Parts: sequence; C-alpha cells; structure tokens
Amino acid sequence: MIQSYLLLLSRFFGVIALAITSWPALAQPEPLPVEEVAPGAFVFEAPIALADSSNRGAIANVGFVIGRDAVAVIDTGGSLAAGQRLLAAVRARTKLPIRYVINTHFHPDHVLGNAAFEVTGAVFVGHHNLPQALSAREEQYLRSNRELVGESFEGTKIVVPTVLVDGTLDLDLGDRVLRLEAWPTSHTNTDLTVLDRASGTWFLGDLLFVSHVPALDGKLTGWIATLHTLEERQVGRVVPGHGPAAAAWPDAAVPIERYLGRLGSDVRTLIRGGHSLREAAEQAARSEANSWLLFDEFNARNATAAYHELEWE
Ligand SMILES: [Zn+2]
Repeated sequence: MIQSYLLLLSRFFGVIALAITSWPALAQPEPLPVEEVAPGAFVFEAPIALADSSNRGAIANVGFVIGRDAVAVIDTGGSLAAGQRLLAAVRARTKLPIRYVINTHFHPDHVLGNAAFEVTGAVFVGHHNLPQALSAREEQYLRSNRELVGESFEGTKIVVPTVLVDGTLDLDLGDRVLRLEAWPTSHTNTDLTVLDRASGTWFLGDLLFVSHVPALDGKLTGWIATLHTLEERQVGRVVPGHGPAAAAWPDAAVPIERYLGRLGSDVRTLIRGGHSLREAAEQAARSEANSWLLFDEFNARNATAAYHELEWE
C-alpha cells in the first residue's frame, strides 16, 4: 500500500519534472528553416504572401553570413517574432557573436524583426537615408502591421541603424569581408546591397524581385538604371528580397526588367494620350498580370507611383 503510494508520488513528481525541463524548449521560438546557399551563407526563403497571423510577417527573404570571428544578419523579417525565429536559426548554426544587423531598405517586412537582435549587442547598419525614412513611417508601419499580424506582433518596434552607408562600406567578419553599397533612389531611397566576397553571394534586397511582382516605392527610372549597373557585375549567385533563396545572375534580372520597362512605357503612353491617373492604374502593365504573383495587390500602386514620376517628364 505504502509502496504503491510512493510509486504514484514519484510518478506525479516525475511528470512535474518533465514539464519543468521541457518548458524552456517549448518557450524557444522555432528556428526559421534556412538554406545554405554557399558555404557559411544562409537564407530563409520566405513565402510569397502578404503579412498575416499565420506567417507572422516572415514574408521577406532574410539571411546571415558566418565569418571566422562573427556573424552578420541581413534583414530581420516583419515582426519581433519573425526576428526571434531568425535569431534561433543563427544560434542553431553557430555560437559566434552577431556583430552586425544590416537592413537592405526601410520596408516593414525587412526591418521589423530588428528588435529581436538588440539583446545580442549587434550594431545596426543601413543606407544613410534609412533613419529618416524609418522615423517618418514608424507610427504607420507599427499600426498597419499590428493589424495584419495580430497577437504575435506584440513587442515589435522600430530600431534604427547607427552605422550608415554612403557609397560603400566593408565589414570584416574575420577572413570574410562583406561589401555594402548604398544606391541612388530605386526600389526605395534606402536600397543597400551586401556582397559576401568570399562566396560571391550578393544580397540584393528588393532591388531584385523574382516571382513576386515588384513593388515600386522609389523611382522607376532610377530602379531601371540601377538594375543596368548591377547587371554588369559577375557574381556566383544573388539573393532576391522576394523569391527563391538564390538565383543566377544576371539572368534573374530579365523578368523584373521587362516588367519595369513595360510599366514605364505603358504609363508614358497613357499620359501622352491624356488618360487619367485612375485609368493608368487600371491599364498599365496589364500584359504582365499572368507573369507574377500578387500582381493585383501591387500593380495599381506601382502604376500610380510611375504616373506621378513620369507626368512631368
Ligand atoms: Zn521592399
């Protein structure tokens, strides 16, 4: 009788002990599934989607590069939770310190995970226009993305970079130099590329969209000109802001160039024909509709931005 009581007691405490030891494991964020696109260079290939509660804002490609002494993270996802999952993915691969968090531009799906890396002591790096661009949009980004992502947006905030790039900047991770380049207004006015010279992996941010229709939030003519410059470079592979984890270069630029060119020529024709902004939003680049995902979510906005830019040409 006493024996069976003790057995029951030990089982009871055994269950408690199990619950206690497994609790921290349950509380850890699940690491984002990353692909090693080149030795020591990792990318999370995000789903092509708008931010919502199921993806928790993890809708932009993000990645990290591991050097001999330290790690650099490139973009952080669209919420604190998304950033924490990226941090967990880094920690699953290396215990080296995260020295830099680099943002490729100001869009919320690329920067709202920054706060997850504050605890690591990393330095935040971006285009010289990035602090101003983020401050101007802070309230709107936090409000609209909280609505999209829902409960798991809790704790998300804007973290602005303190190391700013004007021209180029080299960051050394120990026998592994990243070359950062700030570009003139293109996809946005804060576009920054990151070349991992050791592996020839070029993180292009949203200067390159693959499959996901491009989203224009800068200057159409500037974006096309920047793409031409980028295409002259030979690299091992590129990482787009949206689309596959890695792609061949410059082949991967062909569809986006065709889309942006079509958008520009259609909008110019509509302006010359005396058509309104509204008509341009409805008609421009329609021939591209079947070539892209999320076309209806972004194309009218792109046409509107292009119309404003090109009507005074
Ligand atoms: Zn973007």
